[in-house]
Amino acid sequence: MREHHEPKPSDPTPPSWYPRVGVTSHPARRRTAVLRTAVLGAAALTLLGAAGVLMKAPERLTQPTGSPAAPAATAPDPTLPAPVADMSISRQSEDPGKTVNLTIDDGPDPQWTPRVLDVLARNDAKAVFCMLGPNAQAHPDLARQVVAAGHRLCDHSVSHDTAMDHKDVAYQEKEIVDGLTMVQDATGGAPVPYYRAPGGAFTPESRQIAAAHGMRPLGWNVDTRDFERPGADRIVETAKAQLRIGPTVLLHDGGGNRAQTLAALEQLLPWLKDNGYAFSFPQQ
Ligand SMILES: [Zn+2]
Repeated sequence: MREHHEPKPSDPTPPSWYPRVGVTSHPARRRTAVLRTAVLGAAALTLLGAAGVLMKAPERLTQPTGSPAAPAATAPDPTLPAPVADMSISRQSEDPGKTVNLTIDDGPDPQWTPRVLDVLARNDAKAVFCMLGPNAQAHPDLARQVVAAGHRLCDHSVSHDTAMDHKDVAYQEKEIVDGLTMVQDATGGAPVPYYRAPGGAFTPESRQIAAAHGMRPLGWNVDTRDFERPGADRIVETAKAQLRIGPTVLLHDGGGNRAQTLAALEQLLPWLKDNGYAFSFPQQ
């Protein structure tokens, strides 16, 4: 399988730690605050710029969230099937409070998925498994184990074409619908409430097609970059740091050697529990 990385979508909603100008009126503190704002603002712009370099689809820059501020993202196209699910990209938890949503992509894989299921079970953790249709078809036993353990399914397409946002709508529809059918067939018709475009390569059309089949487009906030194998410690540290941005974490159980991801989960899951995070699911 082709190696890939999934670029982090930009999100215009400032994270909670982002400084607000005018919070304090003391001149010295205000100067400090302004300076801090400028420095952090520059850092944020640099990050956004770096993210922009990685972006392939303009949509991800302009319509990234399910917030009410992005109405254009949710206007259905009357020439396509009507959505029966929310067609905006989900990144927030369905539960209130301090939560984390684990999302695990590119499996199921006979070498790694059973071990990921094991570490999740030992930590009472739940996850969304974004499966490639052919992998589910090849390993229906694993796909069924995922469902039986209480995790949720996500259609991650057939071919993992990270450039599918540049292809015609008929191609995108076939990738989405065939992937869904393969996952459903493998699991005996278990619900598939999410669709995640390969590499986050969503289009308005692909989101509507997914939503017309009952699947909410699924994004992420935290890109651990585990696919690039930066080391388990680095994966853990990235997750801990970026959870301030949002709750939905991107990890992988397929597409190559996932030993680092597994080792990272062994560290991260107990840390999440010790630090008061509850395991939730992304909004449907
Ligand atoms: Zn993927």
